[in-house]
Amino acid sequence: MTESILKLNNLTKTYIIGNRKNALKAQKAIQKLHKKYEHDCEKGKNSCIKEDEKLLKKAQSLFAIENYEESYQTITGKVLKKRPKDRGTVVHALNGIDLIINKGELVAIVGPSGSGKSTLLNMLGLLDEPTAGQILIQGRNITAIKARELPNIRSKELGFVFQSFNLVTTLTALENVMIPLRYAGIGLLKRREMAKIALEQVGLGDRLNHSPNELSGGQQQRVAIARSIVNSPSIIFGDELTGELDSKMTTEVMGLISQLNKKGQTFIIVTHNPEVAKKCKRIIYMKDGRIEKEINKYKA
Ligand code: ADP
Repeated sequence: MTESILKLNNLTKTYIIGNRKNALKAQKAIQKLHKKYEHDCEKGKNSCIKEDEKLLKKAQSLFAIENYEESYQTITGKVLKKRPKDRGTVVHALNGIDLIINKGELVAIVGPSGSGKSTLLNMLGLLDEPTAGQILIQGRNITAIKARELPNIRSKELGFVFQSFNLVTTLTALENVMIPLRYAGIGLLKRREMAKIALEQVGLGDRLNHSPNELSGGQQQRVAIARSIVNSPSIIFGDELTGELDSKMTTEVMGLISQLNKKGQTFIIVTHNPEVAKKCKRIIYMKDGRIEKEINKYKA
C-alpha cells in the first residue's frame, strides 16, 4: 500500500508589499482564524472546526479576488472602509495548493520564474510560515507545531541539496558529511562511520579526505547529497541541484538520485532543466502559485 509522506491542504502564501491596509487587515484576520482552526483541530472541537473551515474558505476566496473588505467582514463581522488610494501590491505566491506525495516518490517541480516554486520549497523546508493551509509530514501537522520545535523536525526529517553545494571549503568531504550528525548528539566515532557509509553510497569512498576544491562540481554535489542522506531523512529537497553542473555531471548526479530513489529515498526537486525533470517519475507544473498540471507515472 502507498503511504503518504507529505500532504498539503490548501497551502496559501500571500505577500503584501507597500501600504495596502485593508489587505493587511484581512490577511491578519485569516491568519488568526487559521491559528484558531489549528487549535480547534488539535483539541478535536468538531463543531468549531466545521464553522472555521467554512469561514476560512469564504474569506480566502474573497481575498483571492481582492475583495479585502468583505473577506475581513466574513471573519470579524466588522465593516472596513474602502481605501482606493492605498498603494502597494498583493502577491498570491501560493494560491491554495493541494498535493499528496507518497513515500519513495521522485518528484520534480517545474514552472516559469515567479510561479511560486521557491516559496513552496521554503514552506516545505519549514523556513517560512504559510498564510493559511496545512503541511503534514508523515501525517504530522507541521503548521500546528510551535516554532521552537521546527529546527528539530527540520534536522531529523528533512534533507537539503542546493544549487551551489553549500559545502564548507575548509573541511574535508568526510567532515562536511558529519556536520548534520553533530546536532543529533551522535558520538565522534559513530559520526565518522555514518559519514563514511554515506560517502561510499554516493561513490566517493575513495575521496573521504579531499577538500571541496580538490573535487569536481559533480563530486562536490555528490558530497552534498551524502550530507543530505546521512541521517536518513524522510524527504530530501533539491533546489536547482544541477544548476551549476554541465550536462555530463548533471547526468551523473541524476543517476545517483535515481539510484538512491530506487532504494526508497523520497526526493522533491525544483528544477528549470527539462532533462532533470524527465528523470523524475512525477512532474508537477506550477503557474501563478497553483499546480497547473502534472504528469504522474506512478499512476500509469
Ligand atoms: P519562482 O521560484 O517560481 O521563481 P517565487 O516563489 O520566488 O517563484 O515567487 C512567487 C511570487 O512571489 C513572485 O511574484 C515573487 O515576486 C513573489 N515573492 C517571492 N518572495 C517574496 C517576498 N519575500 N516578498 C514579496 N514577494 C515575494
